[in-house]
Amino acid sequence: MSSVESETKSNELQEETFVFQAEISQLMSLIINTFYSNKSIFLRELISNSSDALDKIRYQGLTDKSALETEPNLRIHLIPDPENNQLHIEDSGLGMTKADLINNLGTIAKSGTKSFMEALSSGTDMSLIGQFGVGFYSAFLVADTVSVTSKHNDDEEHTWSSSAGGSFTVKQSSTGLTRGTRLTLHMKEDQKEYLEVSRIRELVKTHSEFINYPISLMVEKEREVEETNTSEETNTSEETNTSEETNTSEETTEEEGKVEEINEEETKEPETVMEKYNELEQLNKNKPIWTRNPDNITDEEYAKFYKGISNDWEDHLAVKHFKVEGQMEFRAILYIPKRAQEDLWNKEKKSNIKLYVRRVFITDKCEELIPEWLNFMKGLVDSEDLPLNISRETLQQSRILKVMRKNLVKKAIELFTELVEDEEKGKIFYDQFSRNIKLGIHEDNQNRQKLAKLLRYKTSSDVDNLMSLDNYITNMPENQSEIYYISGESIKSVQGSSFIEGVTSKGFNVLYMTEPIDEYVLQQLTEYEGKKLTSITKEGFKLPESEEEKTQFDEIKKEFESTCTGIQEILKDKCEKVFLSNRLTDSPCCVVTSQFGWSANMERIMRSQALNDNNSMSYMMSKKNLEINPYHPIIKKLKERLCNDEDKYIKSNLINLLFDTSLINSGFSLDNPGQFSQRIFNMVKMGLGIDTEEPSEESEKCNIDTEELSEESEKCNIDDTQQVNVEDEMEQID
Ligand code: ADP
Repeated sequence: MSSVESETKSNELQEETFVFQAEISQLMSLIINTFYSNKSIFLRELISNSSDALDKIRYQGLTDKSALETEPNLRIHLIPDPENNQLHIEDSGLGMTKADLINNLGTIAKSGTKSFMEALSSGTDMSLIGQFGVGFYSAFLVADTVSVTSKHNDDEEHTWSSSAGGSFTVKQSSTGLTRGTRLTLHMKEDQKEYLEVSRIRELVKTHSEFINYPISLMVEKEREVEETNTSEETNTSEETNTSEETNTSEETTEEEGKVEEINEEETKEPETVMEKYNELEQLNKNKPIWTRNPDNITDEEYAKFYKGISNDWEDHLAVKHFKVEGQMEFRAILYIPKRAQEDLWNKEKKSNIKLYVRRVFITDKCEELIPEWLNFMKGLVDSEDLPLNISRETLQQSRILKVMRKNLVKKAIELFTELVEDEEKGKIFYDQFSRNIKLGIHEDNQNRQKLAKLLRYKTSSDVDNLMSLDNYITNMPENQSEIYYISGESIKSVQGSSFIEGVTSKGFNVLYMTEPIDEYVLQQLTEYEGKKLTSITKEGFKLPESEEEKTQFDEIKKEFESTCTGIQEILKDKCEKVFLSNRLTDSPCCVVTSQFGWSANMERIMRSQALNDNNSMSYMMSKKNLEINPYHPIIKKLKERLCNDEDKYIKSNLINLLFDTSLINSGFSLDNPGQFSQRIFNMVKMGLGIDTEEPSEESEKCNIDTEELSEESEKCNIDDTQQVNVEDEMEQID
C-alpha cells in the first residue's frame, strides 16, 4: 500500500486514493481509447469473475460450513438502473477484503497484463482479454466509472471506485452486502444499450448460459391489481400511476356508455389496474451440460459452453464428451480450441481443465489432471468418486486422479486421430498444435507410437504439402527399408543441403524436419511401424545398393585409400575420419556426425541456448567425419595432387577450405570464421592474378602469409591454365 497518495475524510469513513500500477494504468488507457466495436464482452467477463468467486466460496464451504452461512444462496444478480444510468452486477461469492480490492484491482500487475498489451499491439482481438487474466478491466469498455463494493467473511464491507485516469479510491462502506461483490458500472453515454433488459438477456443467453450458478435479471413487470384508495397506490411509482391513469381514462372514453351503465348498476365491483413491479427472472435454467446425454446436445450448445469455460471468443475446433464407468465413474468434456493461446507455454498459467466433484467445482489448478503437452485442451472433469473436501496433497497422490489422467490422454488422442482425418480441420489442428504433439512424443512413451501417427512433414518430393509417416512408408520404393529424414533450420537450408542430392536422385523421399522440437522427437522416436528413422546426415548412412554397385564401390574405396589418409593427416584433429561416400552426386564432400551424437541442427540449437555451458556441450558435440565423393572432379584432382609431396599449398589450404565449406554446407558453424574468410580472399586474389607480395595484417594474423602463398604457387608452377582450373574449382565450391 505504498502508493497511498492522499487521504480525505468523508464524514466518518475514510477514503484513500491509490495509484494504479503503471502497466495496469497503460492497459486501462488502451481499453478506453482503442476503437473496439465488440464491447459486449464486458458482461461475460464480469459474470465469469462472479462465477469464479462463487466457486471459491462453495469450495471453502466444503470444509468450513460457517463460510456459507453469511449468505447461503449462491447466485448472480444483474440489475439495470436506466434512471441512474447504472448497471449492477452482484454475486454472493467469496468477496474481497480491503487488501484484496487494492491488490487485485490495481496495484499488483499480473504477467498477463503486459502480455495482453503486447498481444493487442500485434493484432490480437480485445475479446481474448479474459485469457490473459485481466478481464475485470473490460468494465471500462462500457463504463466511465466503476465501483466495486465487496464484503468478505474476514473483513468489513469496502468500496473500490475508479474513473480510470491512473488512480482509484477505497473506503469502508455500509450498503448492506452480507457476502460477495457488487459491481456498479456508470455507463458511458453511448453504451446505454447494455441497460436494456432485452440486450442483457440476449448476451447472457449467448455467452453465459452455462454458468453453474443461477443468473437472474431484474426486470420490470406488470400485473393486474384491484384498484383501491389505500396505501398500495402509494407504493407504485408515480410514473406507473400516470400511465395507468392514462390507460384507464382512454378505455373509459372508448366504452363510455357501457362503463357508465356498469358503474350505475354494480357500483360495488372493484376495478383492476395494471401495476408495475420489479422481479428477478432467472436466465440460465439448463442443468450442467456435461451431465446431459451427448445425443441431445447441439453443436451450438457445446460452443456456448466452450466459450463460457475457456474465455475464448471463437468456437472450438473439436469436442469430445464422454463418461467413464466401472471401477470408477466420471464425466468429461474436452475441447480443442481453434488457436493456440498466446501464453500457452507460460508456466504461471493455470490448468485449462477444471475439476468438479459431483457437480461442485473443486479447482482449476490441478496440474496432475492432464500432462503439460496437452496444455492447450480446455474442458472439465466431474468425478463421482473423489471426496468433496479433498485437499491438494491428497489430490496429488490420488489413484483416482491418475486413472482419470490416463483416460483423458487416451480420449484426447482419439479425438486428434479423428480430427486429422478431416482435411480442413486437421490442417488447422496441426498448424496450431503440432508442437504439443511432438512434446507428447518426447514425454509419453506409452502413447508415442499413436502420437507419431499424427506427425506430418514436408518432404523432398513435395515441399508444399505435409505427409504422414504412414503415407511415407506406403510410398517407399521396395529396396528402401528405413525412413529417411534430414533436420535443419529451415526448408530452404535442408533443400540446399548436399546430403539431399544423392538420396533424391536415386528416387528416395526424405522427410524435412525443420522445427527445433523435431530434434527432441528424434531422440525418443527411433522407429515407427518397425522402420528405423534414419538421418541422412549422420555417419554410416548408406543408400541401398545392388551387389554390382557394392563391388564397384569396394574397388574405388581401395583406389582412394591413400587419398583419404592424406586428407585426414592434413585435417588432423578437425576431423575424426575421412571415407568415401555413396550419398553424394553434385558435391565433392560433406561432413557427417556420428550416429549417436548431435546432428548439425541439434548443435546449432544447443549453441543458441544462452544458458548452456560450452564445456558440457563438447561431450555431446560429436566428432566430425568427412565423406568424399570419388566421382567429383575436385576430389579426383585432389587425389592426383596429394601424391605430389611438394604440393604444400594444396595440403594446408585447399583441403582445409574444402572441409570448412562442407561444414557450412552441412549445417555446422565454423570455429574460426576469420581463418576461413582469409583463405577465401587469398583464393580470390589468386583467381584474379593479384600480386600478393605485400602481406596484409590480417593474413599475417591468420598465419597465412601471402608471400608463402605466392611462393607455393610458384612451386606448384601454377600457370594460366592451372589458374583457370582453380577458378573452376572455386565455382564448384560455390
Ligand atoms: P482473473 O479473474 O482472470 O484473475 P480479473 O482481472 O478479471 O482476472 O480479476 C482480478 C482479480 O480480482 C481476480 O483474480 C479476483 O481475485 C478479483 N475479483 C474480480 N472480480 C471478483 C468478484 N466478483 N468477486 C471476488 N473477487 C473478484
